[in-house]
Amino acid sequence: MDIMKMTWKELEALPKEKTILFLTFAPIEEHSHHLPLGVDLFLGETWKKLAMDIIRKKEPGYTLLTMPPIPFARGSVKGFPGNLHVKQRTVYRVACELIGKIAGWGIKNIVVIASHGDPKHIIAIEEACEKINRKYGVCAISPMGSFFSFDELGIDLNFPEQVKQQLEKYPNDYHAGWIETSAMLDIDPGLVKNNYSDLPDIKIGEKELMFPKKVNKKIAGYGHIGFPGLATKELGELLNINSAEFICKATLAFVSRKDYKIYQHHSLYKIPFLRTNFLRVFLAVSGLIIIAVLVFLKIAG
Ligand SMILES: [Zn+2]
Repeated sequence: MDIMKMTWKELEALPKEKTILFLTFAPIEEHSHHLPLGVDLFLGETWKKLAMDIIRKKEPGYTLLTMPPIPFARGSVKGFPGNLHVKQRTVYRVACELIGKIAGWGIKNIVVIASHGDPKHIIAIEEACEKINRKYGVCAISPMGSFFSFDELGIDLNFPEQVKQQLEKYPNDYHAGWIETSAMLDIDPGLVKNNYSDLPDIKIGEKELMFPKKVNKKIAGYGHIGFPGLATKELGELLNINSAEFICKATLAFVSRKDYKIYQHHSLYKIPFLRTNFLRVFLAVSGLIIIAVLVFLKIAG
């Protein structure tokens, strides 16, 4: 059910413990020469629909709610028209307010699908879920961070053999490469320009990703990171089903409140400088230390 088509009385009457609301939160942004600006939103919405189909079969007792996606995110890619990027703090604040409002309706299971790989975007939403869970009791989860960092967290995504081999052979396919191009070929080949097979491979290592200036220089004029030419519709179908199965698994673990904690955070969540308020806290603490030292020096003479 789309909440856009419901009355508030219908929403009010839902059995809240048996209701799950899905919210996609990903940006409009450049995806090289061959993919549309809405890729991350198309992916999130597709995975959501496929996951809902599986949940309906496995657990028919739940009412599944959807609402329009939030079309912006934190991002660091620069120099392309079409990027709808905001600060990490903006994502955090919007997520807190929106998820808080939905929790205020009494919904006990809110699943945010942050289908955009930027760790700072994902961490901001995870932090918002934590905050809302402290205020309203556990009611919100954003599982995509654990999906994107499955390896570090030791989560087995049960990739089909074909996908596993491709991932091993052509890793670091971070943006608009074979992964996203394949997924879009499966969703709607009409949205993928034919030139994808002629685009050059752009290789950027995991550690290089930490340096936005370097990344922006390497992808200038194109916009992708990875191997778009290797995309196939067949791989895309496998990838989309795999993502949906993961969301279904994390959602069902969450609604039963059993073994769901592994899905709460990106493996990088624990790194302080990736957190939303790191700089503010750091500057405030540094400021206090400097003041304390100055006062001490004055007293000491
Ligand atoms: Zn993308």
